[in-house]
Amino acid sequence: MKRLRPLYLCALGMLLAYGAALAIQDSNVVDSERLMNADGSDGEWLTVGLDYQETRFSPLDQIDTTNVQRLEQVWSAPLADPAGRQEATPMMHDGRLHVITNWSVTIAWDAVTGEELWRYNPEVDRSINERGTSRLCCGVVNRGTGLYEDKVFVPIIDGRIAALDAETGEELWNILAVPSDSESYSLTMAPRIVKDKVIVGFAGAEFPPFRGYFAAYDVDDGSEVWRFWTVPGNPADGFENEALERAAETWIGEWWVYGGGGSVWDAMAYDPGTNLLYVGIGNPTPWPQEIRQGPGTPRMDNLYNSSILAVDVDTGEYAWHYQTTPGDDWDFDAVQHLMLLDLEIDGRMRQTIVQANKNGIFYVLDRTTGAFISAEPFAQVSWTFGYDYETGRPDINPEAYYTYAQPVTIAPSGGGAHSWAQMAYHPDTGYVYIPGRDNSTLTYATTPRFEFTPGNQNLGLNIPNMGATPPGPDDPEPAEPRTLPEIGPNRQGLVGRGGFLSAWDPVTQTEAWFSNGGAQSGGGVLATSGGLVLQMLNNGTLRALHAETGELIADIEFGQLNMGPPMTYMIDGVQYIAAIGGGIGFGPNSGGDQTPMMYVFALDGGR
Ligand code: CA
Repeated sequence: MKRLRPLYLCALGMLLAYGAALAIQDSNVVDSERLMNADGSDGEWLTVGLDYQETRFSPLDQIDTTNVQRLEQVWSAPLADPAGRQEATPMMHDGRLHVITNWSVTIAWDAVTGEELWRYNPEVDRSINERGTSRLCCGVVNRGTGLYEDKVFVPIIDGRIAALDAETGEELWNILAVPSDSESYSLTMAPRIVKDKVIVGFAGAEFPPFRGYFAAYDVDDGSEVWRFWTVPGNPADGFENEALERAAETWIGEWWVYGGGGSVWDAMAYDPGTNLLYVGIGNPTPWPQEIRQGPGTPRMDNLYNSSILAVDVDTGEYAWHYQTTPGDDWDFDAVQHLMLLDLEIDGRMRQTIVQANKNGIFYVLDRTTGAFISAEPFAQVSWTFGYDYETGRPDINPEAYYTYAQPVTIAPSGGGAHSWAQMAYHPDTGYVYIPGRDNSTLTYATTPRFEFTPGNQNLGLNIPNMGATPPGPDDPEPAEPRTLPEIGPNRQGLVGRGGFLSAWDPVTQTEAWFSNGGAQSGGGVLATSGGLVLQMLNNGTLRALHAETGELIADIEFGQLNMGPPMTYMIDGVQYIAAIGGGIGFGPNSGGDQTPMMYVFALDGGR
């Protein structure tokens, strides 16, 4: 080989340097390192909760307390035919804004102009939402997507997972992640992407037999890396791991006949420090203990239902659990937003995980060990008298247990004091903003005789079409429903159906302020460095509040019901706020059908 002369070497060096510079400009790649450090400071929104800690706190501050009134719509675009509520958080990467909507249709736009770039329709068989063949308890919804390298990961409601080319929307792979012979499982939660793995859990405990699990799949081909069952199976078949063997000691009877429940349908969080993945697990199934374990059986905890559980993200191996509602008969899923916060408590820095649970209790746990730190009511609660700080267990009111003969009215309802509406945290105020609901109650009663109905919900409650049989001649006349004393904040002045936004101090477990949230709890909350808390209300209002004081700064009305969580991004010096809304609601106050839309706002419409 001829020796290169110095001039050529110099030119080659310049060329290499130029190439490297180009490569840096083009390397807007979402790799593992980038996800570990994602916090929104680059203007992008890369993981459903904005960061692995799931704080939904954006450092963007162009929109602030002094100018938020000037927010105007920049563009809007139709999503798909209305088929459910909108619960998904949009994501923005590389100038493309994308979101998942009803029937898992996923659409990407130019984030500045609103020009549609691609649209993916996984062609779900819609009979899964029809009586007799149904396996969707709570609407045709999805809550978000995943993003990694050059792929968008789409959780498909029928239990498939697809990987798309982020630039073109072309399908790269598509796997069935649930048992092909099951009519129980569905997939509504946003995947979390950690170290080359797509991690999701599955819903469907209302459709027994159902045995819950969450699992990790390889980002390159969708092959399963590990799986964690949330409840033990039939001991005669052997246990998958020691954690499930221990869990089986908290059950009695033939629970495996109906599967035990344990849906995983919303929250996960990952801590790079502990390398633990945190997962929220739903209630046992059917709801009344006398059906799922058998009549006359003693009350048992039924692990790992209604629990927050941590596993090693590399292996799926059990690390710890904390059960929020032992022996849950009230549908108190522990699947709500999990947030990782470092807090000074009693003069000591604690690495915590927090949750505003469906059951009305705000939990603070040590996320390294699962140790109990505190649990206090953030809403009106009647199923427990409070928590024993020595044992970390609730002191459950024995009168909260219901039968056919003795119905009991409980606060909150299974709909929850807080459900899927996403919270936010603001590091300057130290508050967690909870979109919650008070005055929600449900009267629980067991069906006189449980009759399993395929293709329908089989809750075991005395509700027609949900596994309930009409009373026979020998069945007693049920007593009047019992009501129980409540604990928790008594928010004077709540209007409508009791929706509120609470600025909750997780250190002192007290409320700094609350705001009327309208009909329900809304689509969720975003906090920003502009001193703002932005809440999407169910009536189509983007509400801007002062993060410190709760002062109402602006209500920007744009007229869609069933809004999803707001998010923010920045491109070419302009900060945008985006959210989706519309569709078919769930329940009597849903407001009917509207074409679901993506809405994007900026100061003065981005002009
Ligand atoms: Ca549930």
